[in-house]
Amino acid sequence: MGKPRVAIFDFACCEGCQLQIANMDEDLLKLIELVEPVEWREAMSEKSDRYDIAIVEGSITRPEDERRVRDIRRRAETLIALGSCATHGGLNKLRNRFPMEEVRRTVYGESASMPHLDSGRVKAVQEVVSVDLKIYGCPIEIAELSRMIRELVAGRRPLVPNYPVCVECKLRENVCRYEYDEICLGPVTRAGCNARCPSNGMWCFGCRGPVDRPNVNAARDVMERYRKTVEDLVGKLELFWTGEERING
Ligand code: SF4
Ligand code: SF4
Ligand code: SF4
Repeated sequence: MGKPRVAIFDFACCEGCQLQIANMDEDLLKLIELVEPVEWREAMSEKSDRYDIAIVEGSITRPEDERRVRDIRRRAETLIALGSCATHGGLNKLRNRFPMEEVRRTVYGESASMPHLDSGRVKAVQEVVSVDLKIYGCPIEIAELSRMIRELVAGRRPLVPNYPVCVECKLRENVCRYEYDEICLGPVTRAGCNARCPSNGMWCFGCRGPVDRPNVNAARDVMERYRKTVEDLVGKLELFWTGEERING
């Protein structure tokens, strides 16, 4: 058997997660010893309709995108959603909170009536096709992507962290951002970034989305200790959480 053929596709996004792959440097060369890239618009001119693993970046925003991602799904044995835009709809989903007409006028002004802007609701990839694996983050973590591809190629189911960022933050012995009178989403956000933001002097803004069962009671305990309210937390959630998540409280 040859190496698994991998294709990378982008939809509505900033392409920052693909850029992370390009930034893998030597590790990218080592990965290419394990898989065969056959299409990747950002880095190569070849194209192919034959691939085993499809990596899909970005949100689905137009009917033609839905058709395209369904076609990708049909061809791929394994489909990976890459980055928050793909796993959750990411920042793009902010658009769903406002009337489309208002969004178009705000962004495009006098050009708001251009027909190709006639877009519908922003969707995460899993809202259109089944997804086999999600690589979270805005942007993704290079080390996590590398590990997951290696595990896939080895025939294992990659481990996806399902505990809060606080766990990694404590392991890194960071001073909690609440001690600086900030609100941090670490208690309810999925780990895997090695607490990237708190480790660099910034609160977690929840880019990886919630753990499967976010424990708001525990988060409430933290906030009460620091005289914050659940409403303070919810205000911060609006950037990356879509309002569709299940919250236990
Ligand atoms: S998840 Fe973030 S970095 Fe990745 S493509 Fe979307 S906006 Fe860009
Ligand atoms: S609340 Fe934020 S800063 Fe505090 S421990 Fe959790 S992740 Fe770290
Ligand atoms: S600390 Fe939070 S916002 Fe920062 S990368 Fe991790 S999940 Fe995303």
